[in-house]
Amino acid sequence: MSQPSPEVYERGKGMDAHNEVMREIRSRKDRTYDPHEPTRVWMDEDNTPDGVKQSLTIILNTGGCRWARAGGCTMCGYVAESVEGGSVAHEALMDQIQVCLDHEAEQLDDGETAELIKIYTSGSFLDEREVGAETRAAIGETFSDRERIVVESLPDFVEREKLEDFTSQGLETDVAIGLETATDRVRHDCVNKYFDFSDFEDACAEAGAVGAGVKAYLLMKPPFLSESEAVEDMKSSIRRCADVDHCHTVSMNPTNVQRYTMVDELYFNGGYRPPWLWSVADVLESTADVDAIVVSDPVGHGSDRGAHNCGECDDLVQKAIKDFDLRQDPTVFSQVSCECEGTWDVVIEEETSYSMPLAR
Ligand code: SF4
Ligand SMILES: [Zn+2]
Repeated sequence: MSQPSPEVYERGKGMDAHNEVMREIRSRKDRTYDPHEPTRVWMDEDNTPDGVKQSLTIILNTGGCRWARAGGCTMCGYVAESVEGGSVAHEALMDQIQVCLDHEAEQLDDGETAELIKIYTSGSFLDEREVGAETRAAIGETFSDRERIVVESLPDFVEREKLEDFTSQGLETDVAIGLETATDRVRHDCVNKYFDFSDFEDACAEAGAVGAGVKAYLLMKPPFLSESEAVEDMKSSIRRCADVDHCHTVSMNPTNVQRYTMVDELYFNGGYRPPWLWSVADVLESTADVDAIVVSDPVGHGSDRGAHNCGECDDLVQKAIKDFDLRQDPTVFSQVSCECEGTWDVVIEEETSYSMPLAR
């Protein structure tokens, strides 16, 4: 499989220009973070193959994504949240886990715990440069009394031996993979992500070999696509992911404008608008028949930097999306409407990738 490193991708493979711009943009960041504190932690509810479960989501603060150091994806500001120095020691990572357990205990009644644990790292949890084998095993043990665990990783690092740290504890185990799109050309040229759909398929097979599953993360409307191209890209991507064995869930998320990214530069210069919430609803409604759970969590919905409609109907459409996430019932969308759907229709019909955005 391909290896994400600056060296490999600076050899005239066509990603040099994107990487150079992204490195320059990221270098403007000057905040540093405490390695003993997680980046974020929160409680929520999630739809899983075994039904809706209470979840504890942890964003561990590791050394950050290798690919981001090379330049990285056009919409991703995550490395800007990582610690200085590039790696975090075992003890510090376990301190972060303890902070998350304390947070959970504060939020829940005595003796209650979340059934589902989700661990993201702003990179790859399964990359041993971010989270070493000792820490991975210790985390598996810490959560052995839960039902299910999700860990985030690029496909390169998905190996059955690593997943066995969780499956051997009796945990239902899923890998969350930031595939972004099933279309290789869009992933390479718009997202600047280096791997291919076939690498994702290989990772699904590898996870499946030890009884683990995969949750694919898709990105709606990376830069350089018109609204209708973005919608079509998501509709076909959801279908292609749902067809891959062991990929049981697809999380389709609209791009939001994060600081220190190429998307932010384009946005600032009037060349990018996050997708309409109508587009998110349209994709979810039209792919509701696929054999996978399909969910979406529009971050920053209703704001200029997140997926938005006219400002009047954003909360209503967001509510319908959240409702769909839990129930998978496409009729939730027939209950919302707004005058701005007319504007959205025109954008879908008329916007082209050489004259964007057509409307705010
Ligand atoms: S989206 Fe993922 S792979 Fe891309 S730079 Fe961000 S953390 Fe790395
Ligand atoms: Zn509206």
